[in-house]
Formats: sequence, structure tokens, C-alpha cells
Amino acid sequence: MSRVRWIVERARLRAARYMMRLRPDSAGGPMNAAYDPNNIFAKILRGEMPAHKVYEDDVALAFMDIMPAAEGHTLVIPKVAARNFLDLPADAIGPYMQRVQKVAAAVKKGMGADGLTIQQFNESAGGQVVFHLHFHILPRWEGVPLGRHTGVMEKPEKLAANAEKIRAGF
Ligand code: 5GP
Repeated sequence: MSRVRWIVERARLRAARYMMRLRPDSAGGPMNAAYDPNNIFAKILRGEMPAHKVYEDDVALAFMDIMPAAEGHTLVIPKVAARNFLDLPADAIGPYMQRVQKVAAAVKKGMGADGLTIQQFNESAGGQVVFHLHFHILPRWEGVPLGRHTGVMEKPEKLAANAEKIRAGF
């Protein structure tokens, strides 16, 4: 990601976070709200927005979280258009969870972590900010607390370096 694009992205994310605080329900809605094909992860899937990718196959895509709550924070998204976990068709759960586990193993190995925290949020009330289903893979080290969710934008160089470590973990 170029520096200009990074600055534009950071401004966009700050604005989105601000709106969420102002009107926590503005981006949310009921559990059966419609899937928005223009959400940011759908754009990443279509290649319309950049991401530091670590894994991709016909079922899932994994890439670095732009505001990591831990060093090496990785997101795994299914390729089907599912807004949250309850939206995912039953027959897609198995294949997707296999990818979540596969990526989690590579994140732990590549980052040399002592453990992992795996999180998944549903709707605004559940802490969800981006409305395309995703699992958070957070590498953990003994004595190192988890950072803030959607706290600070990471430098692209750092995201690229961690993505490389994780790719080497497969
Ligand atoms: P959730 O919806 O589970 O609360 O979290 C969404 C996650 O997506 C956050 O951890 C946030 O940092 C991350 N995120 C938001 N926008 C982008 C983006 O444009 N690119 C990437 N790589 N991550 C994003």
C-alpha cells in the first residue's frame, strides 16, 4: 500500500470509528440484516482494495488486520457472502473452519507465539465493525496483554513483514 493510500485509509477508518461511537447502531442492524456487497472485506475479496494477504484458496482468504490488537493479528474471511456467523450456510462451516485452523497454525508458527486468542464478533452489539464474517487470529506471548480492538493503524512495512513471517509458517 502506498503512503498516500495508507493515509486515506487511516482517515476512512477513523471516520468509521467516529460514526460508530456517535451512533453505535448505524452500521449494524438486526442479525438478519442484508449483506452489503460493498463492505470493505468484499472489496478486498474482489481485489478492489489492497491487503497484506497470507493465504488464499477457493474457500477463504486470510490477511493482516490493519489495526492489530496483537503483533501478527490476522483475519480469515470466507469467500461466500456471509454477514456474520449465523449467516454462513451450514455446509460452508466445515470447510471455512478448516481454513481458520490452518491459518491459526501458520500464524502461531510464523510469529513464534506462545499461544493464540481467536475471536469472532456478530453485529454492532457484539462488537462487529465490518459486516463480512471473519475470525480474528491473535498471536499471544506470556505476559503480553492484548491491545485495543480497532485501536491504532499499523505501518504498512510492519504489516508486510509480519505477513511474510506468517506465509513462511504454512
Ligand atoms: P470486527 O468487525 O470483528 O469488530 O473487526 C473488524 C476488523 O477489521 C478490525 O480488527 C479492524 O482493525 C479490521 N479492519 C477494518 N478495516 C480494515 C481494512 O480496510 N483492512 C484490513 N486489513 N483490516 C481492516
